Amino acid sequence: MTEFKLQGSGGYIIADITEEQAKKADLGVGKLFLAPIGKLEEGKMKKHYCKNCETEFGNPPKIHLEENTNEQVSDNLILVERGQYTCEKCSSIIGEYRVFKKQDESDEAGNARPSN
Ligand SMILES: [Zn+2]
Repeated sequence: MTEFKLQGSGGYIIADITEEQAKKADLGVGKLFLAPIGKLEEGKMKKHYCKNCETEFGNPPKIHLEENTNEQVSDNLILVERGQYTCEKCSSIIGEYRVFKKQDESDEAGNARPSN
């Protein structure tokens, strides 16, 4: 595990992520982004930077769960959960996350294999 800086719309989060997560977060522009990773475990997040406060905090951000629905977004894709990482001080949004589930992969083992 390595600590990476993950960019969000309102700041960044420093977190321990796996190589697989780092690959997902790398959109090829020399930065890593929060959004493609999905939800990070609170224990993996070390620091967060809030643009509004212009401060880096030495704690994980707060997690604000916005929605916990099983909304179908396409034929076999379900949005399981949506939420935001928010600043511990001013509660502005650092970044967002979405957790998806593929409908045709009913068993967990399916997640281990790359989709393309
Ligand atoms: Zn703030």
